[in-house]
Amino acid sequence: MNLDSLYEEIILDHYRHPHHKGLRDPFDAEVHHVNPTCGDEVTLRVRVGGSNGQGVIEDVSYDTLGCAISQASVSVMADLVMGKPLDEATKAYDEFLSLMQSKGQLEPDEGVLEDAVAFAGVSKFPARIKCALLGWMAWKDATARALAARETPRTNEETA
Ligand code: ZN
Repeated sequence: MNLDSLYEEIILDHYRHPHHKGLRDPFDAEVHHVNPTCGDEVTLRVRVGGSNGQGVIEDVSYDTLGCAISQASVSVMADLVMGKPLDEATKAYDEFLSLMQSKGQLEPDEGVLEDAVAFAGVSKFPARIKCALLGWMAWKDATARALAARETPRTNEETA
């Protein structure tokens, strides 16, 4: 089996059997992202635990509509970031973003990306890059919102 068909198999497997799918409670932030060029949609929730300064991605839950690449990519991303300290999860995000921007020229780091290396070939198809990035962008956005909410004092609690 060559690398391309192995990668295709990984993507189809995550598409058919998505990991961690379904919206769950509790969560700190929820976002809805759309990729209009393909019609992909994702609603994604993030729960960030850990003490201040050392966040941990406790949960990522999501619901998706759209093409196989967009759906498989969210599944792979959730596997990769859940349970990870924030800095490690962000490293995986940065690595995946670099891979998608590489036009097929970057050798993906499997130690960081795990199953996400399967998307390496997608970077050669500009129209599909947004499909692969949709879930990751949603995770990044939701995590930023969750962190911002943590740092802002909850005024209604203070007055209660
Ligand atoms: Zn798509």
